[in-house]
Amino acid sequence: MTSNDFSSARGTPRHDLESSSAATVSAGPGPGPAPADLLRRLRARGAADPVTHVERVPARAGVPAPWPSWAPAELRAAFTGRGVVAPWQHQAQAANLAYEGQHVVVATGTASGKSLAYQLPALATLLADPRATVLYLAPTKALAADQLRAVAALELEGVRPACYDGDTPRTEREWIRRHSRFVLTNPDMLHHGILPGHAQWSGFLRRLAYVVIDECHTYRGVFGSHVAHVLRRLRRQCARFGATPVFVLASATSGDPATAAGRLTGLPVTAVTEDASPRGGVTFALWEPPLLPPDSSAASLVPPQATGEHDELHQVRRSALRETADLLADTVAEGVRTLAFVRSRKGAEVVAANARRALDDAVPGLGDRVAAYRGGYLREERRELERALLHGDLLGLASTNALELGVDLVGLDAVLICGYPGTRASLWQQAGRAGRSGQEALAVLVARDDPLDTYLVHHPEAIFGAPVEATVLDPANPYVLAPQLACAAVEAPLTPADLTLFGEGAKEAVDQLVAAGALRQRPTGWYWRHRERPEVDLRGEGGAPVAVVESSTGRLLGTVDGGSSHFLLHSGAVYLHQGVSYVVDQLDVVDGCALVRAEEPDWSTHARDVTDLSVVSVRSYVDAGPVGMFLGEVDVTSQVVSYQRRRIATGEVIDTRPLDLPTRELRTVAVWFTLSPQSLAAAGVQPADVPGALHAAEHAAIGLLPLMATCDRWDIGGLSTAVHPDTEAPTVFVYDGHPGGAGFAERAYGTASAWLRATRDAIAECGCETGCPSCVQSPKCGNGNNPLSKPDAIRVLDVVLTNLPD
Ligand SMILES: [Zn+2]
Ligand SMILES: [Zn+2]
Repeated sequence: MTSNDFSSARGTPRHDLESSSAATVSAGPGPGPAPADLLRRLRARGAADPVTHVERVPARAGVPAPWPSWAPAELRAAFTGRGVVAPWQHQAQAANLAYEGQHVVVATGTASGKSLAYQLPALATLLADPRATVLYLAPTKALAADQLRAVAALELEGVRPACYDGDTPRTEREWIRRHSRFVLTNPDMLHHGILPGHAQWSGFLRRLAYVVIDECHTYRGVFGSHVAHVLRRLRRQCARFGATPVFVLASATSGDPATAAGRLTGLPVTAVTEDASPRGGVTFALWEPPLLPPDSSAASLVPPQATGEHDELHQVRRSALRETADLLADTVAEGVRTLAFVRSRKGAEVVAANARRALDDAVPGLGDRVAAYRGGYLREERRELERALLHGDLLGLASTNALELGVDLVGLDAVLICGYPGTRASLWQQAGRAGRSGQEALAVLVARDDPLDTYLVHHPEAIFGAPVEATVLDPANPYVLAPQLACAAVEAPLTPADLTLFGEGAKEAVDQLVAAGALRQRPTGWYWRHRERPEVDLRGEGGAPVAVVESSTGRLLGTVDGGSSHFLLHSGAVYLHQGVSYVVDQLDVVDGCALVRAEEPDWSTHARDVTDLSVVSVRSYVDAGPVGMFLGEVDVTSQVVSYQRRRIATGEVIDTRPLDLPTRELRTVAVWFTLSPQSLAAAGVQPADVPGALHAAEHAAIGLLPLMATCDRWDIGGLSTAVHPDTEAPTVFVYDGHPGGAGFAERAYGTASAWLRATRDAIAECGCETGCPSCVQSPKCGNGNNPLSKPDAIRVLDVVLTNLPD
């Protein structure tokens, strides 16, 4: 029996932008009830107490530091004029290190003022040396534009800051290249525009003193691996012109930021992590919705399918959406200004609608004080919502995290977070909306039916203790390295010294490019042989994206990455796009296009696949007696073979229909563990239960990996089997869903005992009887969550953990 879970390759970077705008609004009507009193009333509603933990995050006074002696008076005056009286200690520390020429990453909390840490040394240098230049990289154009406003507002003589991105008019580009000394751009523009045009940029690059990389935790996975090589290409061009810029990086708090920054830049980087900025006090509650009675119909006001949340799982816990809606209604009824963050747009609308209904039932008309907010509103509509909330006309707002980007709104009395947003950075970003100056606020994390959420509400130390989740990337990925070396070779022939710069695997990649006829070796180096440049997309994933097109209008609705297209867009699939339901008429695999029509049938569709995995090579392993732990390359072959149609209301299977789709192959990196059949028998796992035990352990392990690395379960796939031909033993594989790997499996291997301990605890601590979405069921199972054995999964993991060294 083999069970598999292919997960798609999706790697959209998260953009957790820091609110640095001075225009942030706050204040409003008088204070609400004290957070502790409010929380007491909220948790007293039901029979069982849903609160698993209350953390009082105390207010913190800031620790100021003197201005560095090297900061010129003009610069200090400019900052003082913008309201910065003195730097906080972490800002001064990072600025001093950078000014001394050390590469530094400042990894502190939301709104801790990381920008001053790089602005100080960069601008001081520009003022002291009228020829020096600075390059600033942000993951989005919007953030670069924000930063441009901030630097321009300082009105420093001769700096001439300017954004240089895809939107910059051609007519301005030459002026910027020649005259701007503080250029703000993004990695895509550096890759597609600046580096290929390095001759035109030679004056700028020759004098480059600093490279600032803002929000560097967003460069993760395959995208991060590409960016790592774009930065090496930048360093190479600088070196050709005789410049060795200092790198200053800003990151959200994460596990081991120095290592991540070092991998990204290829340089030794010192981390500054002690946050010395002031913050308001927050009472932070972790909330687990109660289990439903066993024979409850689990009737939700809205089928979970329609919200894009779990769509095939039997619900045993009250949904986080309903719980959040009730909490929102309760806080609004108390007159508390509340913001609820919900992951999906449809979910936000459901929360707002249910809260409105509950309030109107209590006091007709009260429901009008709750609204839903989603991205895509016009600027005026957003401003109107902000105004209404500020003045108290509106008391409750349910939003997707679009609000993180679109609206400047702080100083709320309470923030409800419906489902863990995926990273600690996002969690604190959202919680950070609560709290007016000098006042305590309430934040509540409502757990969804998901192993990671369940784990977190029972392990508050994973949220409030030292971070373990690290930003991972893998610059040695051959699928990233080879195309990046090709780009580098176009910019200048590769030399043996460059192989050291591009690091592990570079020589092999160059040999491959030579063998493929892309490079030619001459005595002076490796030369690009073709006329045209290689096409390399930094955000490229396995397989070209598939276009989703509405047949009747020809309108392009969006794209789905090639990796998950067979799952989501097969003929007959019901496909949700931004909350609207479509049915796929045809998937054209060759042209990469799916034709769909808007339709909302009363069933959902669930693709089934068969997956084979073979071990190509072992990179590293731990021999732990009856248990083996491995990291290596694998070939994954998968084919989507059929799909089920199920009634939305009841989950009843209507029928299973065959599909005729080609197989797909993925060479990637996997972590796997094996157990001897004897050790399983000794632990009480009956032979017949081994497949279900391994399968359940595999699901939960995939669900918990985001605790260790900033990925989500959709970045990872798994396969478990009672006997695998290559290992000849019961085995669980967990693999990166990206060609060549993205660093997730490697991180899992490096933290194996902590990762599997968390997995074991998440399963053991779930209150369900036989397994549920909070522990061992997976929303993306290719086998319809069958077989699964919850108690035996715990036994399996116990065997692994007792034998594996820490
Ligand atoms: Zn459970
Ligand atoms: Zn499965």
